[in-house]
Amino acid sequence: MPEGHTIHALARQLERALGGEAITGTSPQGRFAADAARLDGHILDRAEAVGKHLFVDIGPHVLHVHLGLIGTFHVKPLARMPLRQPAPTVRLRLVGDTYAAELRGPMICALIDEERRAAIEARLGPDPLDPRDDPDRAWARIHRSRKAIGELLMDQAVVAGVGNVYRCEVLHRLKLDPFTPGRELDPAVWQGIWEDLRTLMPLGMAFSQILTMQDQVDEAQVMMADGSARAVTEQQTGERLGDCFERRFHVYQRAGEPCRRCGAVLQERKIGGRTLYWCPACQTRT
Ligand SMILES: [Zn+2]
Repeated sequence: MPEGHTIHALARQLERALGGEAITGTSPQGRFAADAARLDGHILDRAEAVGKHLFVDIGPHVLHVHLGLIGTFHVKPLARMPLRQPAPTVRLRLVGDTYAAELRGPMICALIDEERRAAIEARLGPDPLDPRDDPDRAWARIHRSRKAIGELLMDQAVVAGVGNVYRCEVLHRLKLDPFTPGRELDPAVWQGIWEDLRTLMPLGMAFSQILTMQDQVDEAQVMMADGSARAVTEQQTGERLGDCFERRFHVYQRAGEPCRRCGAVLQERKIGGRTLYWCPACQTRT
């Protein structure tokens, strides 16, 4: 499932490609045909991600998209898209002057009003990619919960946008025991998790690639600071993961392999609906 950084990057891609333009909406698959037609001729004003939810303002309408496990939303120059025979798997195609965006297999694709949007946002925890968001909102839930921090991090009502890779990697980076109940955590520990997410997720958004290894994080931060990351960001279409950096993680999908920090054998277990990877030897902080 795409994590929040992917949806934030997609919002920027949509604004770059289609922002300020009159949109033509179609549903080659047919399932969204009537609503797609209601978008016709309206200007795409804004696209915003909140956690894993995408909201696109098109004239008086709000398009709400959640990609779920298998959805994709690709933004490409029209010149690269076959206009005559759109694939029958495309739920929604938005066409502007020079770009088009194609949505396939979403969990949610709906036109909603502002009231509904506010209700959806109210159910979500703070998003580390939103600089205005307040980590204390998450802490209010975490410090009262018997659930493990490894499970709480996957709960979108606690913190929005974090998925399995960031969950596993951040807990390892901070040497935290994933099974510590929220109510036994020190507030400073939560602050550390939030700050690490705020460090890592913008890099994921900029490079379309989750970066958690410190050498890669350092290099990516240099590229953000000197402006060279921008060219990488602007090439992205949502079609594939970034490949600027070697795909390398501390623990994610490494069960049975040695911990890069202490050499112990990494473990896996289902928690919060997804497979947690962790090191039982050096993730002991609570
Ligand atoms: Zn270890």
